[in-house]
Amino acid sequence: MDYQLEWNEAGRTKNAPDVEAIKLLQFYEGAALHADPRGYCVCTSEGKDSRVLGHLMRRAGVKHFYMHNITGIDPPELIYFQRANFQAYRDLGYLTYDVMYQYSMWELCRKKRMLPMRQRRFCCESLKERPAPECGKAFKCMGVRKFESSNRMKKRNELEIVEHGKDGKNIVMPFDNSENRRIFEQCYATAERRVNPIAYWTDSDIWDYSKDVGLEQCSLYDEGFTRLGCIGCPMARRAGREHEFNRWPKFRDQYIRTAQHIIDDKPDNHYFKQKFRSGQEYFDWWMQDRTQEEADDNQMDVWEEWR
Ligand code: SF4
Repeated sequence: MDYQLEWNEAGRTKNAPDVEAIKLLQFYEGAALHADPRGYCVCTSEGKDSRVLGHLMRRAGVKHFYMHNITGIDPPELIYFQRANFQAYRDLGYLTYDVMYQYSMWELCRKKRMLPMRQRRFCCESLKERPAPECGKAFKCMGVRKFESSNRMKKRNELEIVEHGKDGKNIVMPFDNSENRRIFEQCYATAERRVNPIAYWTDSDIWDYSKDVGLEQCSLYDEGFTRLGCIGCPMARRAGREHEFNRWPKFRDQYIRTAQHIIDDKPDNHYFKQKFRSGQEYFDWWMQDRTQEEADDNQMDVWEEWR
């Protein structure tokens, strides 16, 4: 694993995204140190985006530490990769924290009496969003990115404030990639400050940068995975989720077992039982893209009855 930070600037243009990201990190470092003497808290899964983010932090020479949320549903190969990287960061003198979940995904589903849906992502809140004492008041630095957009550079603002939507549909979770991402965000609810230095990077920027600096990425990308994260995440498309469940079938089995538990936990709910006779049926319904799109009235009824 190559952690050499030497960098040949000769091949990069003046406004290369990495140069801009580094300037941004150096610009906010004083404020970050004022908030926490450990510097920025780099929130990382060690997927491709957060790997690039970490490399930029080290190149920028800004003070920072690394924090990783254990979700319990990440691909095993990503977990091994993350562990090896964290050891390497510690060897370089950086602090690292692994934050354990309070409730597993399976416990959360039984508590909420449903599998997570795109419109009801209770798992993100608990597995990735929960304020961690390890982070304290540090500025969070994240590898989230906006979706590619032709005029994205024209709309660029360096310092922006997150406005939460009133109807819940415009809420951007900290780990989401969305057109609404900004370079600097402040969450009024939790008084968190977040710097997203690669918010405007494209996929090509990420891969070009990794190649240019010789940054090792998780081996799963070589198998054709384009995004790494929670296995079976409802935010992904069905084809991608099926690919994940074929690659790690034990997670599919666990989702089906959990779906069965959800049904069995409330045996007197006839409405729900009419809709799903088994955990497998519930799981099959949950896997459909259509199900995960805007819930129609009938689907919402199921949950309202169930709650
Ligand atoms: S990324 Fe997906 S599966 Fe993971 S916690 Fe968030 S919504 Fe749930």
